[in-house]
Amino acid sequence: MLLSVESLSKNEVLRFLNADAGLTLPPSMDALIDRCIELTLETIHPVGIYHPFRVVRTQYGLKLADTPFILPGKSIAAFFSEVRDTIYAMAVTVGPAMDRLIRTKMITAAEEGVILDTCGAVAAEAAADRLELEIRGAVSDQGKFLTDRYSPGYGDLPLELQPQLLTLLDTSRRIGLMVTGSVLMTPSKSVTAVLGVTDAPPSATYNRCDDCKLRFHCALRKAGKTCWKTRTESVS
Ligand code: SF4
Repeated sequence: MLLSVESLSKNEVLRFLNADAGLTLPPSMDALIDRCIELTLETIHPVGIYHPFRVVRTQYGLKLADTPFILPGKSIAAFFSEVRDTIYAMAVTVGPAMDRLIRTKMITAAEEGVILDTCGAVAAEAAADRLELEIRGAVSDQGKFLTDRYSPGYGDLPLELQPQLLTLLDTSRRIGLMVTGSVLMTPSKSVTAVLGVTDAPPSATYNRCDDCKLRFHCALRKAGKTCWKTRTESVS
């Protein structure tokens, strides 16, 4: 599925760059960020895929029915505590051209390369937001609700699940998204996640930071920020 990403939030780019809110940028840097956002929008080709799965709770974790795939660990069990029997798996990528652009700029203009790298990550999140809206619409048509996204690597959900998740969605064939031997995705500006279907609006009590291995050292958290967005922040 083609995804429309027509703009990127500059605030989001600054947030990913870990810049303080309200920071006054030198005009040259401000213009460079604007140029990188523009270049990113000209370069990306966002595509995505999603699929619903029935789940059953087992002693090993949440098992996707009719597949060997299991979502193990306490974090996802807590996050999906209000999910009865259905989840969605999703994957998006902004495509290989963005990686090529970042690689080239890292060599020829490193500062621009770093900002483009950030813009690529923000673009992938924006594409994930678009796809999430699609899923949310499909779920809403059934009178149901959806949790936020939860990705491999959050909490104790292993990053090593990435290859299985991509295989499950057939991403290599359908959207050109693969995983390397070190479980990094290629193209790199890509997002995978699972979302749960609930009968009532999910409560907002789950805090991902409580589960994160970095919680005692995380600079973002100490600054009162997070690397993740809530349901209301991510979908507009
Ligand atoms: S903001 Fe920091 S502590 Fe919270 S989930 Fe992200 S990395 Fe972990």
